[in-house]
Amino acid sequence: MADTVNTLPFFYGNITREEAEDYLRQVGMSNGLYLLRQSRNYLGGFALSVSYSGRCYHYTIEREPNESYAIAGGKSHRNPVDVIDYHSQEMDGLVCLLKKPCNRPKNMQPKVGPFEDLKEKLIREYVKQTWNLQGAALEQAIISQRPQLEKLIATTAHEKMPWFHGTITREDSETRLQNGARTNGKFLIRQRDMNGSYALCLLHEGQVMHYRIDRDRTCKLSIPDGKKFDTLWQLVEHYSYKPDGLLRVLTDPCPRPDGVIGKRCKSSPPHLTGLEKGNEDTAMPMDTEVYESPYADPDELRSSTVDRKQLFLEDGELGSGNFGTVMKGIYKMRKTEKPVAVKILKNDDNNPSVREEMLREANVMQQLDNPYIVRMIGICEAENLMLVMELAELGPLNKFLQKNKQTGIKNITELVHQVSMGMKYLEEHNFVHRDLAARNVLLVTQHYAKISDFGLSKAVAEEQNYYKAKGHGKWPVKWYAPECINYFKFSSKSDVWSFGVLMWEAFSFGQKPYKGMKGNDVMQMIEGGRRMDAPLNCPEEMYDLMRTCWTYKADERPGFKVVEPRLREYYYDIAQ
Ligand code: ATP
Repeated sequence: MADTVNTLPFFYGNITREEAEDYLRQVGMSNGLYLLRQSRNYLGGFALSVSYSGRCYHYTIEREPNESYAIAGGKSHRNPVDVIDYHSQEMDGLVCLLKKPCNRPKNMQPKVGPFEDLKEKLIREYVKQTWNLQGAALEQAIISQRPQLEKLIATTAHEKMPWFHGTITREDSETRLQNGARTNGKFLIRQRDMNGSYALCLLHEGQVMHYRIDRDRTCKLSIPDGKKFDTLWQLVEHYSYKPDGLLRVLTDPCPRPDGVIGKRCKSSPPHLTGLEKGNEDTAMPMDTEVYESPYADPDELRSSTVDRKQLFLEDGELGSGNFGTVMKGIYKMRKTEKPVAVKILKNDDNNPSVREEMLREANVMQQLDNPYIVRMIGICEAENLMLVMELAELGPLNKFLQKNKQTGIKNITELVHQVSMGMKYLEEHNFVHRDLAARNVLLVTQHYAKISDFGLSKAVAEEQNYYKAKGHGKWPVKWYAPECINYFKFSSKSDVWSFGVLMWEAFSFGQKPYKGMKGNDVMQMIEGGRRMDAPLNCPEEMYDLMRTCWTYKADERPGFKVVEPRLREYYYDIAQ
């Protein structure tokens, strides 16, 4: 949302209420003149400033938990622009109708808050430290989890601030403030208890004042009877520019001795617990064991063969196919034990081609290393030929969605975006998948998808960039682009077509595409310029993207290089 709003000519970014009033005054304060700015106390919220009868009025546009926007107590809308459109027709509690936007002066960009500058650095540092990632793995983690990481950083950023002293006593805070320069307005924040209660300690005429900061039931922070904030750093920012009930404004942060923060509380405030590392509901891909290759650890020997003695198969099948079965197992490595999925080839001497197929699949998988692709751990030649892979225990995406109809659009978009990241990697490395479908996307968690089944995949030459099949095979025709069927030509662009079908499956909760139709009828439908309708309640932006993936001519169809950022943008918009 922030990105869309940033381009509005009447959006000023992180300016104060007083600055907003100045801008409205400069343009004449006519009745109904308005501007939009970022809320300085609510995360992801906005403020609307309106002039009427020579005065300025300010309304908070809160972002509600269901991703909609509303002026407190008013009607909900999809985005802040819709709120403004609505209030230019209906007063509905406002002092007047919104009549004329007060546009930014020429060459002025929306003001970026002090935290925005810090944010990038903090996110990077946080991911590096928490999951010990670097290079491509670090970048991919940030791209796929940015909305979650931003929220996490926003609510824990105070721990990095010089004014946050952690759990020190009231007496200690006084000693610290009285040490060194005794500037009026020198301040620090200490943690009072484990329930998210803090104290703001402020030096005033040589004396230390202590203001309690409590959390209300909706987790908002405030000093008694004061303005409410989502985060401590927003509170500090606010009281740094106006006293608003304090004896004076905050001026100098009292530095922590040696820069060391007091002990970090173990139990986080209630609204943070869901975001803590390792929590099942909101675990991020990086929290799982399969985000990085087991061989990313230099102490583990990289080898394409697995010793049978190190592999322990468990009872119970994960799945099966023409080749045989897939079982769950444990692979004992040097340092760790990995839960794995083992594809076991049935002993069928009459059919040597199945063995060759499996070895070809293993050969492709071995060349790939990406968080959104099921990695091969190795091949094991024993009583049967076995392909040992990373385990994605929640199984195929289509089945998961059929069973879990309450899965939200945001969640589906997150997963589909991850698939596009894995496909972008394949495209960059000149591989075509040729069997991309929701059944071949496996879930590690409800928030982590991996592409699997490389049985039909091929490496393509960089200069030619497509694979020409020698003849028609047992093909998933409903997922195939016209050039695959008409000319046997497979490229990343034809994978993009399949990806459009996969998106359709995901947003229709695992329904079968072109239900009840024969392959030939589907081909005729496509040749005739018709496409599947949008799934029920599918966001318009996502259906538009499917239609783009189903561009008839491969040359005119976008690659994953274009598709992934489009999905990313939409995902960030709805997930912020
Ligand atoms: P066929 O060749 O007959 O079409 P297939 O290629 O669909 O079979 P796979 O998709 O590789 O076979 O595996 C079959 C099933 O086994 C999957 O649908 C899934 O339920 C399970 N499975 C496969 N790989 C894994 C894995 N890495 N983790 C968890 N389950 C898996």
